[in-house]
Amino acid sequence: MTELVVVSGGLDSSTLLAGVIQEYAKDQDVKAISFNYGQRHRTELDYAMLQADWWGVEWEVVDITSITSFLAPGGSALVSDSDVPEGHYGEESMKATVVPNRNMIMASIAAGHAVAIGAKHIWFGVHAGDHFIYPDCRPLFFKALNATIVRGNAGFGAIPEVNADASVWPTEFVMTPFIHWSKNDIAKRAFDYGVRIEDTWSCYKGGDIHCGKCGTCVERLEAIDSTGFKDPTEYEDNTFWREALERSTV
Ligand SMILES: [Zn+2]
Repeated sequence: MTELVVVSGGLDSSTLLAGVIQEYAKDQDVKAISFNYGQRHRTELDYAMLQADWWGVEWEVVDITSITSFLAPGGSALVSDSDVPEGHYGEESMKATVVPNRNMIMASIAAGHAVAIGAKHIWFGVHAGDHFIYPDCRPLFFKALNATIVRGNAGFGAIPEVNADASVWPTEFVMTPFIHWSKNDIAKRAFDYGVRIEDTWSCYKGGDIHCGKCGTCVERLEAIDSTGFKDPTEYEDNTFWREALERSTV
């Protein structure tokens, strides 16, 4: 069966891709899909391609940049010219990185594609550290999303016809195996799976190398440091994260 993994090129989804190949859906036909939503760090798409190439899986990128201008009025620093905040995700300022309804939009398109190609599951690399700041990364969101997609596509692709009784919980189609994991857990697993960490991209600023100061850089530095392995990533600043961590209340 086909398994469709949504890969951003970051550490989490790259680890997920390796996990689906090596553990969760061994010997299946794994495909990867990425989204260009006008993110200023769209360099991550090159890294998504590197990951797919490394594991030898088919990769496609969906261009949804035409909707960016509809999302930018909300002011998200990820798709506009406003500054990307520096510091830890525990800080209020990080809300500037929320893109309204981002996961719903991407999941909806990925689900349509997954049903069209007969995929058994779609996979997302969200984790517990995302819950605080991003409501569309929380377990209840994904539970509801799964129910919506399964019911909305019942009897199509690999999704079976579901019982009309709404009390019967439907098939698991949307898979989020890291949803209760910490970023540190994922970083450790990345090393276990042999993920090429130097070929993953986290930084929201979209420079030539990781800045080391934005929320996702801070989180990445902390997580890789926790593994005890050497971080192969090049950062503009690789000490700021320790101060940011001390300031955070989360
Ligand atoms: Zn950064």
